[in-house]
Amino acid sequence: MGSVAIVGDGPGGLSAALFIAKNGHRAVVYGDDKTAIHFALLSNYLGITEVPGPEFQADARAQVKALGAELIATRVTSIAAGDEGFALELEDGSSERFDYVILSEGRSPVLARALGLAEAPDGSIAVDADFRSSLRGMYVIGRSVRPKRSQAIISAGAGATAAIDILSELAGEDVQDWDSPPKEG
Ligand SMILES: Cc1cc2nc3c(=O)[nH]c(=O)nc-3n(C[C@H](O)[C@H](O)[C@H](O)COP(=O)(O)OP(=O)(O)OC[C@H]3O[C@@H](n4cnc5c(N)ncnc54)[C@H](O)[C@@H]3O)c2cc1C
Repeated sequence: MGSVAIVGDGPGGLSAALFIAKNGHRAVVYGDDKTAIHFALLSNYLGITEVPGPEFQADARAQVKALGAELIATRVTSIAAGDEGFALELEDGSSERFDYVILSEGRSPVLARALGLAEAPDGSIAVDADFRSSLRGMYVIGRSVRPKRSQAIISAGAGATAAIDILSELAGEDVQDWDSPPKEG
């Protein structure tokens, strides 16, 4: 079983947690539920005609929790990268170790910058198509990598993409999280 820390509990972080937990790995989401989605009235998220942001967020949190993700109401204060993965320090001074980290800090990627992750020419954190940062095992997703072009559905897609990349690496082969309805009769 792999372990993935997700820093940030907006649409990006929760979407990543959904895929990791649903596929049987440990997904721990850190955040204080201060996501920008609380200010939105969502009418541009495919499959949802219109929903207030706080309602969307409450449904998302419940869905992810039901799949086994741990939602921890605290902030991460620092991250140290080592040979055995990543050590996250929390507000109360305790620390936890993880194999992978997905940073979904929103518009102020403080931890990403403190880690010295490579930046793109526009000053955002540089990532590849799977949202891998310049540090192996660490991903950066959502508003942190698209500060001026941020949409909830884009952050959620980025979380899914990073999670599928981690699941594929853990499985040693490409993973697609596909389900089908049970056959009738
Ligand atoms: C007024 C307003 C209206 C909007 N309307 C729409 C809309 O109609 N449609 C739409 O698609 N989008 C809308 N948006 C944008 C939408 O809210 C964002 O695109 C979306 O929230 C980005 O998701 P994210 O997960 O990337 O980041 P965020 O939602 O910003 O989440 C980041 C989270 O990380 C947490 N965090 C940061 N650092 C730490 C740390 N060290 N430890 C723990 N947690 C941490 C933050 O507290 C926050 O909860 C709107 C935004 C605003 C402000």
